[in-house]
Amino acid sequence: GELISTPDIDVSQLQVELTKNPKTRPPASKLIFGHTFTDHMLTIPWSESTGWGAPEIKPYQPLCLDPSATVFHYAFTLFEGTKAYKDNEGTVRLFRPDMNMARMNRSAARIALPTFDGEALTELIKKLVMIDSEWIPKEKGYSLYIRPTMIGTQNALGVGPSSDALLFVICSPVGPYYASGFKPVQLYATTEFVRAAPGGTGGYKLGSNYAPGVVPQAAAAKAGYSQNLWLLGDEHALTEVGTMNLFVAFKKPDGTIELTTPPLADVVLPGVTRDSALKLARDHAAGKIRIPGFPEKLEVSERKLVMADLVEAEKNGTLVEVFGTGTAAIVSAVDKIGYLGRDIVIPCGPAGQGMGDIAKGVLETLQGIQSGELESEWAVIA
Ligand code: PMP
Repeated sequence: GELISTPDIDVSQLQVELTKNPKTRPPASKLIFGHTFTDHMLTIPWSESTGWGAPEIKPYQPLCLDPSATVFHYAFTLFEGTKAYKDNEGTVRLFRPDMNMARMNRSAARIALPTFDGEALTELIKKLVMIDSEWIPKEKGYSLYIRPTMIGTQNALGVGPSSDALLFVICSPVGPYYASGFKPVQLYATTEFVRAAPGGTGGYKLGSNYAPGVVPQAAAAKAGYSQNLWLLGDEHALTEVGTMNLFVAFKKPDGTIELTTPPLADVVLPGVTRDSALKLARDHAAGKIRIPGFPEKLEVSERKLVMADLVEAEKNGTLVEVFGTGTAAIVSAVDKIGYLGRDIVIPCGPAGQGMGDIAKGVLETLQGIQSGELESEWAVIA
């Protein structure tokens, strides 16, 4: 169609072309994370001279890009990950999309790609999700994974800001992360590689942060661990777990449980799940809400944690729980950390639960909000 350029993303300019060849949907039980895509995609072009162009929802299709496009050479690419959930009545909810839009804008600004009106993109994502809503399985634990992406498309070599960009959104139906019961993961505290450094880009969701993690991940897997525990500096400060944020719970001498997570600084991605878990825990600690399973006496902190803290807590019996948080699994309990040739063993809640009580409280509360069973302003109806 005709390209109508506007300075910012303009929902009223949306052009919709529905597919004439709907795909056959695989049975929900056969879904592999990120392998199946819905019938439609959203694209919005941008150029330095004309701003954001007309958004289009059109049949899912390949992109046609010049081989000189900046995305291929200097990694001008950033992305988001969020989900849509469908309840038994067919109502579709997004979870805190404003957080993803804010983070996407921060990522864009970090690599000189254009920023945009996050509310406008959320409106367009809602339209895309509703056009493809048949693709969202209703079964508990299933959802539609949404992948907003922005790439630099200037057709020229030479490192500099991209004069052109493309924002696109694709969607993938996904199954429950814990299809066969909760299983804790084993971490390898990585002393050979770093994920992010002070002043670097670890706090942004840039494509360039992810490819370099694949070799360390394979090395951890070869050593018998499921994920890297990313450390920083000579003190081995803890930062993140694989592609999740990290939480540790300690027992204090007076019996209070301290739930703590490393501060964001610029080495930790500001996870939406991290922020949500912190808010739930702080509201519980303040007596504003009650999260089932959370300790009576809870203290919440964001502070620097070093491996020596974990080693000591294991020795003193004050290590209560370690878990990761992220959109895909919500929480992932940790039962072992390999560190300097030895394994730190971590409790994982009552026998058979597969995770500690705090992790379980976070998981069930967030699932309740996402499914609409629990009332919350974090759930946004599409
Ligand atoms: N850290 C990293 C490096 C990630 O890629 C992700 C996934 N986006 C997270 C943490 C968790 O973030 P969120 O809770 O927003 O999914």
